[in-house]
Amino acid sequence: MNLILLGAPGSGKGTQAEVICKKLNIPAVSTGNMLREAVKNGTAAGLSAKEYMDRGDLVPDEVVIGILKDRIAEDDAKNGYILDGFPRTVEQAQALESMGVRIDKVLEIHVDDDKICARMGGRRVCEGCGASYHMEYKPTKVEGVCDACEGVAGQRIDDKPETVLSRLKTYHEKTAPLKGFYTERGKLVTVEGQEEISDTVALVFKALSIAD
Ligand code: AMP
Repeated sequence: MNLILLGAPGSGKGTQAEVICKKLNIPAVSTGNMLREAVKNGTAAGLSAKEYMDRGDLVPDEVVIGILKDRIAEDDAKNGYILDGFPRTVEQAQALESMGVRIDKVLEIHVDDDKICARMGGRRVCEGCGASYHMEYKPTKVEGVCDACEGVAGQRIDDKPETVLSRLKTYHEKTAPLKGFYTERGKLVTVEGQEEISDTVALVFKALSIAD
């Protein structure tokens, strides 16, 4: 099964992607994670992506589409995958179509902007191991210190309030039109993101007709 997960930054689609992947035993392909990795490793793609990411803007298509194309050609993606964070524009969706990629369903996780701002303001990520925390819902035992590896658990540059607003604006302007694009193709299903991750998971499995 090839799935696309659609949702504003902070909608929880990354977490949903991980859960569905485990269930279906297919990889999650997150362009955001791949780009962050490229930035960390100082690759050419990473160097050109960083300034856009720090501002909350979209990275140019030629960089992202190249990374995506290589990833879905890998062996573990032969039986399907979940695209998390791609496509982010109608042009990227058209690029997928022209690559001959068949999409079974597009799952939108919908969360209102004000809830997203509250969630992302509290998010903390370990600079060492990448573990994710939330000041309110899942705090570290010691503030600023990762429970798992004792690394620094801080705020991602692009989770700062002004960048979150810019990422939401980008989402509404550039990514939300994909809902119409995939509705026309009979692929879109929308699920309301719930406070509890497990409640959203249950709705997602139901929408995808997967037994819990
Ligand atoms: P994410 O973790 O999916 O929120 O992505 C983090 C950042 O990576 C985004 O704010 C963009 O700057 C960049 N990014 C991720 N996926 C894409 C994409 N498909 N097209 C352009 N930029 C992307």
